[in-house]
Amino acid sequence: MTGIKVPAEKCGSENQTNMIRKLVIGLWAGMLCLAPALFGQGVGAQYQGVFAKATEAPTLEKNLRTLTDEIGGRVPGTLQMDEAVKWAVAAFKAAGADDVHTEDFTMQTSWREGATDVEVTSPTRFKLRATSIAWSPAIQGTLTTRVVDVGFGSPEEFAKAGDIAGAIVLVHSHVLHKWQDLFNEYLDAPPIIDQALKGKAAAIAWTSTREHDVLYRHINAPPEKFDRIPSVLLAREDALRVARLIESGKKVEMSITLPNYMGGPIKTQNVVAEIRGSEEPNQFVLLGAHLDSWNLGTGALDNGCDAAMVIEALRAIKSSGFKPKRTIRFVLFSGEEEGMLGSWAYATQHKGEMDNADAVVIFDSGSGRITGYSLGGRKDVLAKVNEMTKPFEVRGPIENTTDAFVGTDNLDFLLDGVPTLVANQVEANYLVNYHASSDTYDKVDMTELKKNLVIAAYTMAYLADTPRLGPRQTRPEIEQLMKNTGLDEQMKLFNVWPQWEDGTRGRSRQ
Ligand SMILES: [Zn+2]
Repeated sequence: MTGIKVPAEKCGSENQTNMIRKLVIGLWAGMLCLAPALFGQGVGAQYQGVFAKATEAPTLEKNLRTLTDEIGGRVPGTLQMDEAVKWAVAAFKAAGADDVHTEDFTMQTSWREGATDVEVTSPTRFKLRATSIAWSPAIQGTLTTRVVDVGFGSPEEFAKAGDIAGAIVLVHSHVLHKWQDLFNEYLDAPPIIDQALKGKAAAIAWTSTREHDVLYRHINAPPEKFDRIPSVLLAREDALRVARLIESGKKVEMSITLPNYMGGPIKTQNVVAEIRGSEEPNQFVLLGAHLDSWNLGTGALDNGCDAAMVIEALRAIKSSGFKPKRTIRFVLFSGEEEGMLGSWAYATQHKGEMDNADAVVIFDSGSGRITGYSLGGRKDVLAKVNEMTKPFEVRGPIENTTDAFVGTDNLDFLLDGVPTLVANQVEANYLVNYHASSDTYDKVDMTELKKNLVIAAYTMAYLADTPRLGPRQTRPEIEQLMKNTGLDEQMKLFNVWPQWEDGTRGRSRQ
């Protein structure tokens, strides 16, 4: 990139006459236009070095290739996850961290899929493309029984379906397009499982929300527990074929072989690096992403790209010579996919210093453009965050939102009263590849990821340098926030509520 200079006012313009020159400039324009436009629009001079270094991103692509192509999918308790932890420690060191270490925690259950086999045995015979739902209990031997179509699984549809005792219930789904569809997929599952159990069904066959045979790893189990009923995910095309057979009046029988391994406790690690603060080293802001992933694919969009980005953000800040007033911690969590277990462990292990945590920033939505931050219900920090994100607007509209949700590693910090920021990003190609066999390196939009990196690095430098974003909330304030945002209802649905109530999650009662 050195040696190519594009004046800001010429970026993207039609002024170039030489076609070849135009093409070359076009290829680089995404990168080069970004810096001058952002620098010129309200970013303090003290952060310009961070911006410049972040646009270079010298090891981002290589690091991500190693993590995804060489190491692969990373489920805690597997060799691949252990390799990923070693990779992260080495990469943080190479990026210039002042300190890098790992922090152990225990996951109470471990699991891996056996040789799942699903077949329709009557009225015709064909194999279905299928995978186990994560943390599904095993089936002893092979289950062969009738299939009952329960539609989308509403109480009315279950009632209409009649007797489901001993049957496999087939649940329909809508094709996934938007973030809300994904939230609905998670939110809809627990009551459907309740009804299947109530009717004494033997197993659930879920219809894939993706077309073209895409299978993905979905989890419905409460934290630290196995799912409550054996469950498989069927390729959408196969599930719809079964549904049509049933609809035409045929009695359909299916056999499921599901020899899942259901194991006991395992140890896994969060990886923690830091740049120490120059004035208040005990105060900290935290940039986090999860390192673990599912392993049908290689966890590139979810969340390898953001794990690599966190490491690159450290490199950018450190190599720019920027001296943050407060410490910046860079944390790659394990166990996110099984219920944010790594960030829960981190918040628990660091309970004593939560008063010193100024803000926690989480990236977990692939490489789509950042559209702002979700502030976990904290209206009191909105004005300051709006001020901070003004310079991003040259990339597109920015809206910081004050919603709160159960879904990623900010939750346990939010429950401890710490202001949290989760990057809101456009869906891009995230959802179609979400947890799927197709979530591989080639899906990552490197140009957008590099722009997100600039924003992440700037955000951390800014937060570590400016007055505290907002106070740590008390338990009553957190409870009020839950009510205002509906977070309490979500926590109940996802079985996180009992842990808040019994004090194993969140700010304790004093
Ligand atoms: Zn994720």
